Amino acid sequence: MASFIDKELLEKAVRLHGHLGPFLVLGLKMSLRAKEILGEKPEWCTVETVNCKPYLCAVDGIKTVMESDAVTVREGEGLTAKYGGANGKEVVTRVKKALVKKYAEGPWEKCEEYAYKVMRSDYWQLFE
Ligand SMILES: [Zn+2]
Repeated sequence: MASFIDKELLEKAVRLHGHLGPFLVLGLKMSLRAKEILGEKPEWCTVETVNCKPYLCAVDGIKTVMESDAVTVREGEGLTAKYGGANGKEVVTRVKKALVKKYAEGPWEKCEEYAYKVMRSDYWQLFE
């Protein structure tokens, strides 16, 4: 599957967010997958995650793909996002718990290394 992130999209996300990290890229990948399944750009998104950094970094990744601010954050565990399209379709993407934990607890110096790792990963390696 096309889980590839083009350079332009990545640069856009980093510009919006201010730094490169695994959660930002997870947000991009979750949304690209949702877009693929919906067959169109998502119109809205509800993210369930821990309401602090670095978890919330994913929100800017999601906004970058959606090209809108229609993202609602709900306090929860892990990192899950529900997307809806204009055609009424909905899709849920849930990042594997072990990955969320690993990236959330990882040292700051590993931030970019982890980000590139997420970038190179296929959807099946990231999502449940
Ligand atoms: Zn961040």
